[in-house]
Order: sequence, then structure tokens, then C-alpha cells
Amino acid sequence: MMWQQPWIIGNWKMNGRSSTVAAFAQAWAEQRLPENVVTGIAAPLPYLCALKQAAASTALHIGAQDVSRFASDGAFTGETSAAMLADLGAQFVLLGHSERRQYFGENNEILSNKLDNALAADLIPILCVGETLAERQAGREENIVAEQLSVLRGKSMTHIAVAYEPVWAIGTGQVATPEQISAMHAFIYTELLSFSHKGANIRTLYGGSVNPQNAQTILSLPKVDGALVGGASLKADNFATIAQAAAKP
Ligand code: PEP
Repeated sequence: MMWQQPWIIGNWKMNGRSSTVAAFAQAWAEQRLPENVVTGIAAPLPYLCALKQAAASTALHIGAQDVSRFASDGAFTGETSAAMLADLGAQFVLLGHSERRQYFGENNEILSNKLDNALAADLIPILCVGETLAERQAGREENIVAEQLSVLRGKSMTHIAVAYEPVWAIGTGQVATPEQISAMHAFIYTELLSFSHKGANIRTLYGGSVNPQNAQTILSLPKVDGALVGGASLKADNFATIAQAAAKP
């Protein structure tokens, strides 16, 4: 994945069927897509290969939404290892999405293992961070995000991808304001630079109710290197419009 270009990454969550995956890929191939924007979809695991094959004529990157915390093959029923994802052709993996933190108890200890496994398999981890509404109302958003980012400390990464997704903006239609987004992205950059390699490549994506109407405004903000898109990534034309909004003239 190109580290100087904007990234527009879709997260399909637990949505889709074989038929909709095929329809998306067909429609995607018909879109006019900018060449200088990285696009990708974090697909549901059962459809990862189908999407990869169906979209093979396009530049769409394929990723996963989660990976096992366990490193090696073995007696871990229901799990999918980082090596398996890489073997299937996944190029990136979302880590620590707020829904995984909420419903599956993902914390920094678990995420540290997942990060190590993703890196060992040459998958690009996209670490999702973000505060809840209560945490923002209490003025604790930077503390929360700093704590979530601290899982990256000591990982000796030269390339770091983070998605800032305020929990209250995910799937709610309530987008963070440009001021809130700019302030947090600047904070995230400063934090990452304080403990990463000098000259590390950083991509900081915004996520939370990004859609074709608001994408341009959000993507033009400083230190916003792209977007992580949930609902609006399910339809190829909406997702393509967001990718076009990311294209630098
Ligand atoms: C997400 O799931 O990461 C997300 C940002 O969802 P939505 O775009 O639907 O708010």
C-alpha cells in the first residue's frame, strides 16, 4: 500500500452475502477511480477470497476486520491466524475497532498480541482508536486515545496506520466537527512521533459517519490522511465518490 497517498478503507462489518459481494465488485469495476488514492475493503472473512477474486481487475486492496491473538496454528477453535489471512491475500487488518472493544473485550494486552501477529505475517495493522461520548463530555478524549495508542509503543514500526473513530460518530450519522477532527489528528501525530522511528510513515484516517456528502470537507482537513468508512462502503458508487473526494488535484 502506498504510504504517501490518501487511504479510503471500507469496513463492511457483518454485512453481505455472496450475491452482494459479486454485485459490489462488478459495480466497482465500472467506477471512475482516482489513481492516486489507495482503496481497500475490510471484508467479512467468509467473503474475503470471493471479493479478492471478483475485484482482481481493480486496484482494490483486501483486508480483514480482525485477527487471532494466537500466533501459531493449533487448538484454537474458531480462530483465524494472521498467517492464514496473509495466505488468503489479505494486505491489511483492522485492529481494535470500537465494536470489538465493546463486544469482545479487546484491550491493549490482547491488541498487543494481535499487532505482533499481524506484523509477523506482513499484514498492515490499522489500529482503531476513539473515545465514547461520556469520555468526551468529561474532557478525557486525549487521555483515552493516548492510552489506546500506547499499544504501539516499543513495536519498532516504520509504518503506522491509525483510524480515529469517535465511538459516538460510528453508525450514528453524527460526524465529529472539523475542529474536533483536526485537534485529535494533530494530537495523534504528536503522540506517534514521540515514540516511533524518526521519519516513520504515518497514515491517520478519520472514521465515523463519513459519506459522499461530507467526505470532501473531512478529507481536506490537515493530518487527515484518509477515511475508514462503514455504512457508505457497502455501495460501490458511494464508496467511489468518497475515494474521488480524497484525490488531490
Ligand atoms: C466504522 O465502522 O468503522 C465506521 C466508521 O462506520 P460508519 O461509517 O458507518 O459510521
